[in-house]
This record gives sequence, structure tokens and C-alpha cells, in this order.
Amino acid sequence: MARYRGAVCRLCRREGEKLFLKGERCYTGKCAIDRRPYAPGDHGKRRTKISEYGVQLRQKQKAKRIYGVLETQFRNYFADADKRKGITGENLLIILETRLDNVVYRAGLGRSRTEARQVVRHNHITVNGKKVNIPSYQVKPGDVIEVKEKSLSIQRFKDIVETTSSRIVPEWIDADIENKTVKVVSVPTREQIDTNIEETLIVELYSK
Ligand code: SF4
Repeated sequence: MARYRGAVCRLCRREGEKLFLKGERCYTGKCAIDRRPYAPGDHGKRRTKISEYGVQLRQKQKAKRIYGVLETQFRNYFADADKRKGITGENLLIILETRLDNVVYRAGLGRSRTEARQVVRHNHITVNGKKVNIPSYQVKPGDVIEVKEKSLSIQRFKDIVETTSSRIVPEWIDADIENKTVKVVSVPTREQIDTNIEETLIVELYSK
């Protein structure tokens, strides 16, 4: 399964904001955005005027980077969002939020979305009692996500939970982190998705 394998902090620097791609490090003084708050590359410090297209493109790139999705899949998500009833931009965010790796991250079973994706890929997760190792798996209300019994004793989960214990879990997810069990209560509303993305600009970009 394809994914971006380059230096992730460059992605934040390109977007000019923290995308929280590295878990704990993002909250420390080691964060590259704090230390080098300009775009990567030789001309990163230059001030350039950004076009309307550029602004829209940046929102799309940011969304892809936050959720760890590559272009083709993102386009497919957009096509799906456009087909669904309701507002396309909001549908798009809902599709991204209801990816299994994102729910694992939101619930606090991964310090970053990348780690949550790895947790899923490494067969630690079940959905409704069945093993699911597909990070893009779409969860729905009523689904119960659990860490497999065999994996519960792994030190990694103890470390993860210690780090994420103060994380605010969104209302659409019911997370019993003690027992490593997560229930999807409902489909998230736009207000419940705290990601800093202007989805209408992505819709404008794809509507050209
Ligand atoms: Fe982004 Fe985190 Fe790297 Fe900071 S430490 S630049 S927030 S990935």
C-alpha cells in the first residue's frame, strides 16, 4: 500500500503550520515548525504571492498530509463525497475521519496517525470481533473496534496510552481506553471535526 516515505516535518513546513504528524515530538521544542518556521528548500525563506489556485491547492495538500492519503485515493474520496447526499466538502471530511486508522488515532490508540496506521497494518485491531488490517477501512455507527487480546500486553500499547491519556476524544467516538475498546457512536458532524481544513477550497479546486 503506497504512502509518503519522505521527511514528514518538511510537510508541515511546506504548509506553514503544525500538522501533528509525529506524535509527542510535535509538542516539544524539537518541532521543526518552531525551529525553522519557513518552507523547506533553498528558496524557502522567500516571500511569494500565492494565487487563488495556490491557496486551494494548499488546502488539498494539507488534508492529504494530515490524513496520510495519496492523490489517487484522495480523488476517489472526493468522487465518493460528491455522490453522497449533503455538502460535498463536509462529506469528504467525514470520509477521511471515519477511516479506521483515524478512529484508532482519535481514540488514543496511536500517538500519531502514522502510528495508528501501523497498529492497524500490524494486525492488532479487530472490528466487530473480526481482524481488520486495512487502514482505510470505513467505520460506521455501531462498530466496535478493539485491540486484539494477544496484543493487549504489548509494551507499545502501554506507552501509547500513557502518552494519549489526556487526549480529548471526540463525542462521536466512545473510547474505553482502559479496556482498549472503542465504539463508533455516530457519524461525525462538521463541528466535531477539529481539523484545520477549509474544505470548500478543495471542492472549488476539484470543480475547475
Ligand atoms: Fe510537524 Fe510534528 Fe514535525 Fe512539528 S514535529 S514539524 S508538528 S510533524
